[in-house]
Amino acid sequence: MIEIPEILPLTDNNKMLLANVHPSDWVNPEPAPGYNLVVIGAGTAGLVTAAGAAGLGAKVALIERNLLGGDCLNVGCVPSKGIIRAARAMYDVKTAGEYCIAGGERLTIDFPAAMERMRRIRAEISPHDSARRFKEELGVDVFFGEGRFTGPDSIEVEGKSLHFKRAAVCTGARAARSPIPGMEKTGYLTNETVFSLTELPARLAVIGAGPIGSELAQTFARLGSKVTVLGHLNDHILPREDRDAAEIVQRAFIREGIELLLPAKILGAATRNGGKVITVEKEGRMLDVTVDEILVGIGRIPNVEGLNLDAAGIVYDPASGVKVNELLQTSNPRVYAAGDICFPYKFTHTADALARILIANALFMGRQKSSALVVPWCTYTDPEVAHVGMYEKEAREKKLEVLTLTIPLTDVDRALLDGETEGFARVHLRKGTDKILGATIVARHAGEMINELSLAMTAGLGLSAIGRTIHPYPTQAEVIKKLADAYNRTRLTPFVRNLLGAWLRFTRR
Ligand SMILES: Cc1cc2nc3c(=O)[nH]c(=O)nc-3n(C[C@H](O)[C@H](O)[C@H](O)COP(=O)(O)OP(=O)(O)OC[C@H]3O[C@@H](n4cnc5c(N)ncnc54)[C@H](O)[C@@H]3O)c2cc1C
Repeated sequence: MIEIPEILPLTDNNKMLLANVHPSDWVNPEPAPGYNLVVIGAGTAGLVTAAGAAGLGAKVALIERNLLGGDCLNVGCVPSKGIIRAARAMYDVKTAGEYCIAGGERLTIDFPAAMERMRRIRAEISPHDSARRFKEELGVDVFFGEGRFTGPDSIEVEGKSLHFKRAAVCTGARAARSPIPGMEKTGYLTNETVFSLTELPARLAVIGAGPIGSELAQTFARLGSKVTVLGHLNDHILPREDRDAAEIVQRAFIREGIELLLPAKILGAATRNGGKVITVEKEGRMLDVTVDEILVGIGRIPNVEGLNLDAAGIVYDPASGVKVNELLQTSNPRVYAAGDICFPYKFTHTADALARILIANALFMGRQKSSALVVPWCTYTDPEVAHVGMYEKEAREKKLEVLTLTIPLTDVDRALLDGETEGFARVHLRKGTDKILGATIVARHAGEMINELSLAMTAGLGLSAIGRTIHPYPTQAEVIKKLADAYNRTRLTPFVRNLLGAWLRFTRR
């Protein structure tokens, strides 16, 4: 009997989601005598692998123990961006005084309705990842249940044995449990439960100031919670990002009333007088932070347990996941892996890109390398922070000589007109050339703007090519063109300037 996962609350929207991503009446098919490819895990990596391989004519089985769509659709990108949008709308209304619209600051948001809006959109997106689509449109054999290797070329699911020429481990990662004493007893939320809330916590502690913690901290603050962000490892939010970029977001957090206890040693948690009390040590002083809910976002743990990887001779590490070479092949040459289970950049778009490499290498003797990928990412705070390629520090560690150029959004007419001048675009070039090593953009829609730089890096175009590209006026993306203009100015050395001056003097005669 296959267990049907709970996705709460059981509203019509969530019922529709479940009917797509884990139908209660699903009957696993009889396995084919042999498969070109068996995929374990149906998050982005598994779905793209299965759909792509089946589309090219492979006989494919797809195994999922929980919900098709994995983290991204169900408890990650989709629901988080759904509520981020509602929170942004609320913030815009509240701060509409800047645009001479009065009264916005008195308005409040209907939290249960905003959460249900997110659930409706998630359900509307879900047919694309549905069991029926994969079975009927794509011809994939979809099995619900826990997949486990029984040998180097066989996998078992719900008592059925599947034999493969190639297999793909796409089992992703899950939220790390809180190691804080007392927190198992007080209870806490993770990304797996926070999107089931139906009431806004009046006071919320967010433990962890990385991308997930920061996005949700700002969102809940904008929806009306009193938010405190705690973390013991760093003195700053978004510690892996460009420091100036993180600083701009941190200033926005403080302005919006988010309390930051960074760094703070979290000593324990207990329930007292109906509240959850977190005891922290900050700069030698003991503090109690009392909240209604705690949200923990302290990292991701790869899903390696239960797969019986040893039976297939697949080397793995419980902390970093399945070991793969650049071709995404595991220590068992028949078995490949893609997505959060094996890659340090844990994003939906990287899972998608790796799945495409996996198909080529596993099924068509390809030699595509994951190390060749140009990987951009974005943290959807407001303003957003988007990055691609190397940070300056990384480039210098690799002993590359770097020229860094930065243009603030205050230099961009559209950002001024929009009242969105907090941010900048920064590019790191290989010194003496226009080759882009990396770039960071901080802007309200930085995630949309970074693509131009990612394209240039992927296609091997230098910054001068962007300088030659006409950008519509006025757009915030003009900031990237201004970077190219700034680069061109660095080429105007005194020698070149003198030469041009001499030519102009000569042609005046
Ligand atoms: C709150 C949050 C917000 C995020 N926002 C973004 C964002 O905005 N943009 C972005 O690019 N990324 C974002 N991410 C990251 C993104 O969700 C992941 O990188 C992506 O889902 C990885 O896909 P995957 O297929 O590797 O793994 P997963 O989505 O984790 O899928 C793995 C699947 O394997 C299944 N599985 C595991 N073990 C077994 C087994 N033994 N048998 C059968 N099935 C098994 C699991 O049930 C799961 O469905 C976010 C993540 C979180 C948590």
